[in-house]
Amino acid sequence: MTGAGQRPHGVLYHWGSVLSLSERTPLISLGEGDTPLVRSAALERLCGLDELWFKLEMCNPTGSFKDRGMVVAVARALEDGAKAIMCASTGNTSASAAAYAAHSGLQSFVLVPSGRVAAGKMAQAIAFGTRIVEIDGNFDDALTAARALTARHPVALVHSVNPDRIPGQKTAAVEICDALGDAPDMLALPVGNAGNISAYWKGFAECAELGYATLHPRMLGFQAAGAAPIVRGALVPEPQTVATAIRIGNPASWQSALAARDESAGLIEAVTDDQILEAYRLLAEREGLFAEPASAAGVAGLLKLAREGRARGGRAVAVLTGNGLKDPETATAQYHPDVIRAEATVAGVERALGW
Ligand SMILES: *Cc1c(COP(=O)(O)O)cnc(C)c1O
Repeated sequence: MTGAGQRPHGVLYHWGSVLSLSERTPLISLGEGDTPLVRSAALERLCGLDELWFKLEMCNPTGSFKDRGMVVAVARALEDGAKAIMCASTGNTSASAAAYAAHSGLQSFVLVPSGRVAAGKMAQAIAFGTRIVEIDGNFDDALTAARALTARHPVALVHSVNPDRIPGQKTAAVEICDALGDAPDMLALPVGNAGNISAYWKGFAECAELGYATLHPRMLGFQAAGAAPIVRGALVPEPQTVATAIRIGNPASWQSALAARDESAGLIEAVTDDQILEAYRLLAEREGLFAEPASAAGVAGLLKLAREGRARGGRAVAVLTGNGLKDPETATAQYHPDVIRAEATVAGVERALGW
């Protein structure tokens, strides 16, 4: 029961009006959406911007923006009488699908590329009780298999090709306009399957139509150099990058990402793994924000533009798409902390610290 004066949280409650829900859509929620927008402490200057804000999508219930679209997709599956859902995933979609399935009493199946999913994301899928199938191949193979399987069996498909995901994700753009009082000049974000860049563009376009915003932001999308099919204009059969969430060689929303880029006078460019990891460390060390490597790609892109003399000030929002805790191996591999050993006494700790 909702307590007196307490409004229910969640994307379906809050944004039902922009999602064209039916009267029969069940209003499920894990408290997704309504994430913080925080001002940069240090990177703003390094990026040559007047203002840089971070949209903390890592604050969603399973630690990534995938929850915004998943809550809509799972509610629709429930409305349609589904008993089970399936997705292919580089990790975060499966964590999200598994959570909403557990919440709703649905069975869930996730297809993941073998050995390439970050440990925290696997831990989530396991904890939520999903059936995990490791595919002997990459994400793109898993996606192809999930499409075919859900066409043959009574299981609802909830990954990126599901038409309810993008409307759910566009709510983040509306929140940004709400928080800033207008759209920003630029939005920087990582691009994998390219659903999110398409969703944000749709959201900003609707904000302008509805009079919530006067600006159309330039969409600045960044792929990892080893997984940059949109930048190269060709499929990448063996995508490689430390940023596993964007290790995708054949994006499902390729065409709409190009449209978002061109209609917004934006760009989609590549950043190297070194640039991604530099941004990842700067976010942690200079901002106190622990985002997963893929999330750092957008910030790496802003830094790259500044270094190349292509920054022109203005107000940018960088989307931090997922939580750093999801990928502890990358974090520990990045640092060689000199942990000091000491005796368990005050004098022992003082000696060890040289005080
Ligand atoms: C899914 C994901 C992305 C990529 O988003 P797309 O919509 O596939 O382009 C980036 N970062 C994180 C953390 C993700 O989970």
